[in-house]
Amino acid sequence: MRLLGVDVGGTFVKWWTLSGERGKAPSRGLDLRGLMGIVRDLIDRINPDSWGLAIAGLVDREGFVWKAPNLKILEGVRILDHLNPDIVVNDATAAVYGEYRMGAGREGRVVLMLTLGTGVGGGLVVDGRIFDGTNGTGLEPGHMIIVPDGEPCNCGRRGCLEAYFSSYAIEREYRRISGESLKIPEISRRYISGEEKARRVVERSIGHLHLGVLNLVTVLNPDVLILGGGLIRDIPDLVDRLRSMLSKSLFTPHRLIIREAELGEFSGACGACLLAASGTR
Ligand SMILES: [Zn+2]
Repeated sequence: MRLLGVDVGGTFVKWWTLSGERGKAPSRGLDLRGLMGIVRDLIDRINPDSWGLAIAGLVDREGFVWKAPNLKILEGVRILDHLNPDIVVNDATAAVYGEYRMGAGREGRVVLMLTLGTGVGGGLVVDGRIFDGTNGTGLEPGHMIIVPDGEPCNCGRRGCLEAYFSSYAIEREYRRISGESLKIPEISRRYISGEEKARRVVERSIGHLHLGVLNLVTVLNPDVLILGGGLIRDIPDLVDRLRSMLSKSLFTPHRLIIREAELGEFSGACGACLLAASGTR
């Protein structure tokens, strides 16, 4: 049986098959027709018996894309008018399912994953099934408000977690205190070399992330917390720091395992494939 997962993101379309094929094609700057064309060509070539589609945005179970900040051309699009996947799912939900089945979440019962990068995404698996809310649009941990009337967020509100911990938030804060407009790789280099301003900015950001994660863990009581996304690489001691902070701040009597994601950039495509294979959400 040929099974395929496709993850449509703002930078790449990625795919993953159960038989071991992995691939990606650039998606940045494409119009809707071009983007759908990539996926249709893939379907024609692989001819799957079943396939799942992950979308970087708020997509419901009927495949309607409500919001897609990093993939604006999909906003307001009904995916099933263009493609015929067996399942449509949010990319972070697909990613946590991929990690649960084949990566860092294998033996977990309540598995929470956070992706830390341009924004903060997240997904949850409970007893082997994805938890994606009433209509399937999933979790939005990056938009939990952690500071009343705080920093402006890309979503239009203020004080969200990702307005404090994300690549854009760290870049903004560094610019504010130093006057220099730098991208994350350079701020990261300065942080690692011990530059005082970079350390101050990154440590403050980690403090806010800790608050967000502490709230999530307190509410959801997961046994495995998986951290993925580019900022895990950019801040090499992030996972250790967070682990140490949580060990002091958590009062719930459970053992929380914190791990880095294992499937890298293909976790969403892998999860979409395995969700299509399982036939259940
Ligand atoms: Zn927000």
